[in-house]
Order: sequence, then C-alpha cells, then structure tokens
Amino acid sequence: KLSDRLNAVANNIPNGARLADIGSDHAYLPCYMVNKGMIPMAIAGEIAEGPFQSALEQVQEESLTNLITVRKGDGLEVIAPGEVDCITIAGMGGSLISSILEKGKSKLVGVRRLVLQPNVASFAVRRWLIDNGWELLNEEILKEDRKIYEILVAEKGEPLKPYKGIDLESGMQFGPILLREKSDVFMEKWKAERRNWQRILIQLDGATQNEETEIKKKELKKKLKMAEEA
Ligand code: SAM
Repeated sequence: KLSDRLNAVANNIPNGARLADIGSDHAYLPCYMVNKGMIPMAIAGEIAEGPFQSALEQVQEESLTNLITVRKGDGLEVIAPGEVDCITIAGMGGSLISSILEKGKSKLVGVRRLVLQPNVASFAVRRWLIDNGWELLNEEILKEDRKIYEILVAEKGEPLKPYKGIDLESGMQFGPILLREKSDVFMEKWKAERRNWQRILIQLDGATQNEETEIKKKELKKKLKMAEEA
C-alpha cells in the first residue's frame, strides 16, 4: 500500500502511460502502478547509490524486472526522448524539481503529462511550468503524518489559463487551483506560514538594521500582504 502522498501522485498518472519516476528511491510508485495493471512499463531513475540499490531490490523482489527498468543517473538523463508519456518527480524541493526539468528539457518531447510533488517551494515549479509552456491541469494539497504536501499536474498547453482572474504572483505562490478551492489543509498551511513570517519579521525588527534586513523585511511584508489577501 502506498502512502497517501504517493497515492495522490498515482491517481494523477494516466492509465496506460509509459512512466518515468525520477528520484524513485524504493521504486514504490512504479511497482504499485505496474502491479495494479494501470501502466504497461516504467523506468525508475535514481542518482544516489543507496536508493538505486533499494529500487533494484524492490523491483526484483516483486518480480517486475521485465516491466520496470531501474537506471542510475541524474534527473532526466536516464530516459531517451519519446521513451515515456508521463514523468513523476516526488518528494524533493521545488527548486530541485525545476532544475531537473530545465536540465532535461530535450527529453520532454513527447511527454504528455508531468506529475510533480514538491515538498517545499512549489512556486519554483509553477514558475518553470509557466516559462516552458506547461498548463496546470490539477493541484492537490494533503496532510499526512503532520506534514502538508502539494501535487502539481501539468500538460503541454496554455500556461496562464488557470491563473485567469488572479494575480500571477499570488497564483504562483499559493497555486491557482488550490487558491480557488481554499481547502482546510490549504488554509492551515498558509496560516502557519503567516505566523512564521510574522515571527521572523519581529526578529528582524529587533536586529541591527542594514540593507539586508531591509530587503528581507520588504519581502516578508509583501508575502504577508499576499497571504492576507488570499
Ligand atoms: N520519489 C520518492 C518519494 O516521493 O517517496 C522518493 C523521494 S526521496 C526523498 C528523493 C530521492 O530523489 C532520493 O532518493 C534522491 O537520491 C533522489 N534524487 C535527488 N536528486 C536527484 C536527481 N537529480 N536525479 C535523480 N534522483 C535524484
């Protein structure tokens, strides 16, 4: 059984898609999808030796070596252009996810859907999607083991469409779809963030003032204003 977080990622993978799961650790997601018969094959990519070995072992243990290939390498370098229809990248920071996509751009030809689960800094992923012509189809937010996770689902399309009627900056920060839904988990996340920013702001006020603290304070005030508006 998958965690609620990975289950939410799995639910956004199209039936029958050839999948690459990048940063696959134990290859739980590809194994689950193939075992359920939801996808015909998968590639599990891993950069680090330990997790790469764990992925290999898992795939062998579940007798899936004919359907799941475990490859060691950095980001999208483990796939060839046209080899997969869907890419999942889960459990990493948003800037790492966007740098993997940026470095691997040439491998995205033919990829129909991206399912991305940034642990932090999801705005970096939304920024990359906008800049590269990917449209957000769906966003989910969920809480598991007292942590809050976001899932971003994108397809090639009109990148700014889901942002219609909302300020682009706050849309990227909060997620245009999540911002419209305003679920309980969403409200909990941003109330906590706001408290955190307010606390830092007070600390900065007490610190020796210089150019750096001024810039930070300005940034925080901008974020607070956005949070209030949301
Ligand atoms: N995707 C799994 C999940 O969501 O449960 C595993 C998440 S784990 C926290 C992140 C994994 O990504 C680690 O195993 C790490 O080695 C791998 N990773 C980090 N940077 C990577 C990169 N550039 N290319 C491939 N894998 C990477």
